[in-house]
Amino acid sequence: MPDYQYDLFTIGAGSGGVRASRMSARYGAKVAIAESTYLGGTCVNVGCIPKKLFAYAAHVHEDIEDAAGFGWHIDAPKFDWPALRTNKDAEITRLNKVYERLLLDAGVDIMHGRATLLDAHTVSINGQQISARHILVATGGWPVKPDIPGAEFAITSNEFFHLDVFPKRVVVFGGGYIAVELSSIFNGLGAKTSLVYRGEQVLKDFDADLGTMLATEMVKKGVDLRLRATIERIDKQGASYRVLLSGGDTIEADCVLFATGRAPHTAGLGLEAAGVALNKSGAIKVDKQFRSSVPSIYAIGDCTDTPALTPVALAEGMVVADQLFNEGRRRIGYDNIPTAIFSHPNVGTVGLSEAEARKQYADVKIFKSNFRALKHTLSGRMERTLMKLVVDAGSDRVLGVHMVGPDAGEIIQGFAVALNCGATKTQFDATIGIHPTAAEEFVTMREPVA
Ligand code: FAD
Repeated sequence: MPDYQYDLFTIGAGSGGVRASRMSARYGAKVAIAESTYLGGTCVNVGCIPKKLFAYAAHVHEDIEDAAGFGWHIDAPKFDWPALRTNKDAEITRLNKVYERLLLDAGVDIMHGRATLLDAHTVSINGQQISARHILVATGGWPVKPDIPGAEFAITSNEFFHLDVFPKRVVVFGGGYIAVELSSIFNGLGAKTSLVYRGEQVLKDFDADLGTMLATEMVKKGVDLRLRATIERIDKQGASYRVLLSGGDTIEADCVLFATGRAPHTAGLGLEAAGVALNKSGAIKVDKQFRSSVPSIYAIGDCTDTPALTPVALAEGMVVADQLFNEGRRRIGYDNIPTAIFSHPNVGTVGLSEAEARKQYADVKIFKSNFRALKHTLSGRMERTLMKLVVDAGSDRVLGVHMVGPDAGEIIQGFAVALNCGATKTQFDATIGIHPTAAEEFVTMREPVA
């Protein structure tokens, strides 16, 4: 057996890489991890965490507006972007240190620098060559910008979190979850926000009612939504930008943000030279155990084509560690992965959309409730909440649970457990509600609407 310096060398200390490395070290492996930019990866530094902190900040604006109906009068509130950004940065720095401590305590060697593959068992970093029995690629994803004249003036989610000055007028381009989340943050923090999307409706990859409902509520909150439109070009005019849309409209903006998708971060890693097969989008092809076409090289998370979510990368990291250095019995299922969108209002969803269910099942029942939440009877806000159940009429099994409304993510997490247990509509109906909550609607919807 050749003598390797490490049992496992992980490239990328994001969600998946850190988890796989820590778990492998706990199982007794000698592990090193390389990180080129920031410990904790996308989620901690330019993704889930700062985004959710900013989403809270944006929601405070609504709380202040709602306060008067509850007898609180808050005069002349003022938003301070540098204060929010500084507080967020302090929390991210704390989290970077937590990640460092977790790795060091587990006995993992941390190497700061960009790593590339030399062959099936060798990595190059900071001019050093390091050998490992197994190599794990966990390099995540990266935003992609469409090739439009003036695209160089547009920022992406990466820069959004570090803006020096909070813009007064913003154009966001895209219709996926990051586009609606960042538009909601800009709008909530007081920017005049336009959301431009070429499709018929935002959130096209989700149940159609979610996008329709969210779009309606975002427009009520002041977002200027331009559907079936693309950005043709961006021209710089002094300190601001002139954004030309298909159809001829123009929008003046201080900031243009492209949320037009992310691609696997695999270019220039030496993967092809090492013989690792990629698919058309640059994602590393892996089998069910996350092994690439080169048996000693594994890949997890956003650099593969599994769902690009932190809990998925974490779960995959655990499977790899278990597979390589433990009993190898851990598996991951990709059905019923719950997810939330921290737009305003929130969206939460698990299981099949109505359209997917109709493709797969002969007879599908749909239950829906669309209501104004109790809180808003006093706040005066006209926001509405949507809840929807998709049920297989044949087996009575609940196939999908969908919601647009406050705390949708918190609510849907619990229902994901029920779906994974195969819960039926009869069992939903037999569950006593918690009163008065919005969530109780999910166990009190009696009559199908379709
Ligand atoms: P990453 O976390 O991206 O980590 C990859 C790491 O590899 C990075 O730190 C990178 O610097 C490093 N790296 C890359 N190349 C090299 C190299 N050659 N050498 C050394 N290091 C390298 N997911 C959710 O579940 N919930 C959310 O609410 C959510 N919100 C998001 C919001 C935004 C704006 C974005 C962009 C993403 C969001 N995500 C969310 C997705 C989530 O962040 C990713 O799915 C997750 O971070 C993927 O983890 P990963 O380990 O695959 O990669």
